[in-house]
Amino acid sequence: MKQLGFETRAVHSGREDLTQLGVHVPPIDLSTTYPVGSIGSIGECFDALAHGGPLRDNPIYARLHNPTVVRFEKALAALEGAEESVAFGSGMAALTAVLLAARQGGTHVVACRPVYGGTDHLLASGLLGMEVTWTHPHHVAKAIRPDTVLVIIETPANPTLALIDIARVAAQAGGVPVLVDSTFATPVLLQPLVHGAALVLHSATKFLGGHGDVMGGVVATNAAWAARLRQVRIATGGVLHPEAGYMLHRGLATLPIRVREAQRGAAFLAERLASHPAVSRVWYPGLAGGDPEGLIGRQMKGPGSLLSFELAGGARAAGRVMERLELLTPAVSLGSVDTLIQHPASLTHRVVDAKDREAGGISEGMLRVSVGLENPEDLWADLQRALDGLVSLERLAG
Ligand SMILES: *Cc1c(COP(=O)(O)O)cnc(C)c1O
Repeated sequence: MKQLGFETRAVHSGREDLTQLGVHVPPIDLSTTYPVGSIGSIGECFDALAHGGPLRDNPIYARLHNPTVVRFEKALAALEGAEESVAFGSGMAALTAVLLAARQGGTHVVACRPVYGGTDHLLASGLLGMEVTWTHPHHVAKAIRPDTVLVIIETPANPTLALIDIARVAAQAGGVPVLVDSTFATPVLLQPLVHGAALVLHSATKFLGGHGDVMGGVVATNAAWAARLRQVRIATGGVLHPEAGYMLHRGLATLPIRVREAQRGAAFLAERLASHPAVSRVWYPGLAGGDPEGLIGRQMKGPGSLLSFELAGGARAAGRVMERLELLTPAVSLGSVDTLIQHPASLTHRVVDAKDREAGGISEGMLRVSVGLENPEDLWADLQRALDGLVSLERLAG
């Protein structure tokens, strides 16, 4: 049979056995333990799961396996074009598991700034005993050592929305696996595995859930990596709750239309912001000059729904704009149905050293917007009022 279209997979994947079960929506299995019947074969079931293998016939205990979570994992793998995916209680739990699994082969990681503030902190703090070399995406080859076990990139990057050529990084990494944090892109706009990545990470808390009410993380990859990740998950306990698994699975059904509609709003706002006198710079891959390597079309299907802009008046002006907004919600996170705005230097990237922040292009006057599904005209009216206020204040000040 012909490969089903992306939208069809988003609606139907992970639901293949529902008809046979006689239900229309996936059941939520809240069991923490399962009656084991005979003690003869249960040991083998346990061994298989504990080594990251597939379910034999009894899940035994909820930290080992949960059928509701597995449905979400199957569906996400289908959207990423991956053999399997493994879900965790948060994006950071997912990243931690990847680092712990990789660490069995060595302790050196290569990463490109800017990345999510929490990722930067986890790597830079040495909390997991990993050593990091930060480098530019074009210079990855020079940073690789014999003990390098992973290359970590994020595209579009947070919060500069810089795009990275994944195939180019993978070629430079040689045999070292490349992990792409694809939280901002979602599988609707980017499928990193096609371009040579070995692992795709999502903070499912963002677009996959899509409504700001569920936390989770997921890694899409091949069967061998997935088994190691499940083994780590069982040993360290960073599991996704089945109710969260249900909600994330449900979120996937509307993911394509949510992402495209929010992207339409972001493109509109980026244009408007770029022509406002109080704004000195807009970061959005869809604007002229925003995609210098021509990756939209070749690697990404569109520029996405996040944008950042810089106020000529710096941090003070950024604070004033945030205070004046009525419709946009001042809050961290992203990928929700409503529009969120935040100040990276004082919030999401606060844990990053000021020097590293500046080097990564994160200025004090920068605000990041995650555009939601409101009418874009209403969003612009709110932003414009706040920005016009700045311009008149500056005039008053002479
Ligand atoms: C939010 C986020 C994370 C961390 O995910 P949590 O679900 O908050 O643990 C990682 N990477 C990116 C790009 C994110 O936006």
